[in-house]
Amino acid sequence: DAIERQGEKNLVTHCCFCGMQCGMNIRVSTETNQVLGVEPRYDFPMNGGRLCPKGVSAYRQAEHDERLMHPLIRKNGELVEATWEEALDLIVSKIQEIQGKYGKDAFGIYSGSSMTNEKCYLVGKFARIGLGTKNIDYNGRYCMSSAAVGFNQTVGIDRGSTNPWSDIKFADVLLIAGSNTAECHPLSMPYIWGARDRGAKLIVVDPRQTKTALVSDVHLDVRPGTDIALVNGLIHILIKENMIDQEFVQNHTNGFEELKELTASYTPERVADITGVSVEKIEAAARMFGQAKNGMVMFARGIEQHSNGSDTVSNYVNMCLITGKVGRKGAGFATFTGQGNGQGGREHGQKTDQLPGYRKITDPEARAYIAKVWGVDEAEIPGPGLSAFELLQSLGEEVKGLLLICSNPMVSAPTVGSVKTYLEKLDFFVAMDMFLSESAELADVVLPSTVWIEDTGTTTNVEGRVILLQGLDRTPGQSKRDWKVLCEIAERLGRGKYFQYDSPEDIFEELRIASKDGKADYSGITYEKLERMQGVFWPCPSEEHEGTPRLFEDKKFFFPDGKARILSFEYKGPNEKVDKEYPYILTTGRVVYHYLSGNQTRRIEALRKLCPEPYVEINPETARKLNIREGEMVRLVSRRGDLTVPARVTKIIRPDTFFVPYHWGKTMAINHLTNPALDPKSKIPEFKVCAVRIEKTEQR
Ligand code: SF4
Repeated sequence: DAIERQGEKNLVTHCCFCGMQCGMNIRVSTETNQVLGVEPRYDFPMNGGRLCPKGVSAYRQAEHDERLMHPLIRKNGELVEATWEEALDLIVSKIQEIQGKYGKDAFGIYSGSSMTNEKCYLVGKFARIGLGTKNIDYNGRYCMSSAAVGFNQTVGIDRGSTNPWSDIKFADVLLIAGSNTAECHPLSMPYIWGARDRGAKLIVVDPRQTKTALVSDVHLDVRPGTDIALVNGLIHILIKENMIDQEFVQNHTNGFEELKELTASYTPERVADITGVSVEKIEAAARMFGQAKNGMVMFARGIEQHSNGSDTVSNYVNMCLITGKVGRKGAGFATFTGQGNGQGGREHGQKTDQLPGYRKITDPEARAYIAKVWGVDEAEIPGPGLSAFELLQSLGEEVKGLLLICSNPMVSAPTVGSVKTYLEKLDFFVAMDMFLSESAELADVVLPSTVWIEDTGTTTNVEGRVILLQGLDRTPGQSKRDWKVLCEIAERLGRGKYFQYDSPEDIFEELRIASKDGKADYSGITYEKLERMQGVFWPCPSEEHEGTPRLFEDKKFFFPDGKARILSFEYKGPNEKVDKEYPYILTTGRVVYHYLSGNQTRRIEALRKLCPEPYVEINPETARKLNIREGEMVRLVSRRGDLTVPARVTKIIRPDTFFVPYHWGKTMAINHLTNPALDPKSKIPEFKVCAVRIEKTEQR
């Protein structure tokens, strides 16, 4: 469906800036191979001819004059241009030196999920049998890990959505919690409008009256960190008013009686007191959800980035289980993946506790299978090691050398001030990136990688649909494809025989085998099939299989008895409480114009102009009390750091809470303040709640 223009060709690919993975055609000059522009694809079902502001601007990275074009090596404190030969020689000698002195695990890898499945798979394999280190983890630990644990402990599998997005319009009620869908996944909104057009009700749980909450039927403006109490209160009403699907609960779940007992004390009055949401709204939302035949619960980082994020996810899933809203059109649950390949990034073995195919690294059977696929002895697969933030904390101590790929913890990790100290303690630090990020700036060696338009490979979108990206055949300047760089390093380390690939498709063919019979089974997916079918939903266990768009249609869950596990959770509250010294809650999040750490979107002028810097949202009532006016500079202070930003006085935020977007680094990083307390199950930090005070200041 692409428009043909003289002197141009169209590259069929997908947007890199969120888990929707909208289809797009990149316009390329046939003469110079330069990227000229972008058009949405009408044939790809997710976006059907639409793109959001990030999507229409994403291509501008390709010809950007700040792209890294040469390897850089630090000499006399400065990063200076070097050859690949020099850079790789130095990297390999440092790996050997550090591992020789301190052991294999002293060299770690910290990677990301904005990479293709092929790269995610290769990074996991490279760590375990290229470097022989157990210490590999990735930035999805800050993003998807609570959803992963929450799903696994409740339904036994972690696919971010039980249903294809085309099912959303069949819901009679949508409960969206902790997701500003309209800004963070804008092209999900047409699906929500589709349901509304058919009469569906919309319930939004969010401390802010976001653009999504603005169009809801009921907005539960919850105090950050109190979702477990809120859901217990909703469940209390569902049980009390007999809105439970008894047949489903009895035949397909375990644990309902314990939930009933635990939630008995969560009366609407008690829950209103904890959450700050009125009794009327809590009752209205419970009835709206309970009385609907079909309904979906959808959520994102707002409920997940907490020290009890995994259990909060499970509790929201309980809403669907006890009302039997699973396994058919318009009935199910989903998390909105933030990173482009947030779903695939967590399936192929770059998590420290995981092997490809979503296998547990501690499972002897899984280890034996993957060892066979890789052609090594089972004992040669190290792990598990440290999770992402623990890995950063160990730098200079247990871990002396680090390879950073496609990630920018100097913006995205909690307490970025400490992260700088950790990185500076390293004996050797190498970063691979397309731009010189705040983290890469601190490295001893920086390797220039390609941008996503130049990458062929697969990603897995928010629905669990695996899709194919066509890469532009070029590597500008001295930039190199990162999968080739990893293979070259492995070769120089004498491990080259395990990394013999000629193309991303070669890697995918091995990934297929590695995933066979695992939880995330890609074994029946081929590049040819992806092209022909506009993507294939996993699990897809054979080439004849057409994929699985909707999970649990047979009401069988991924546990030996086939039943889902209803788990019950007492409300304990966030790790850090407000007090006299720090009397307000700080919560953080995203804006429509930026992606993750902003390393890409802050360089795109059109997006930067629309949102050039962070700000703090303050409720007018609070602003009046503190004598703060619109645009005045204020200093936010937590127990870990401070940030000075302009005030945005707006009634969209609760009076007891401040909101700051997180896409900036250095003196503009809100993550100087955030709390690194980790969820013990998922190891996600509690980005969404910390205690702060606010002061007026003249400084900028
Ligand atoms: Fe890109 Fe997401 Fe916007 Fe689609 S919704 S264009 S994938 S950023």
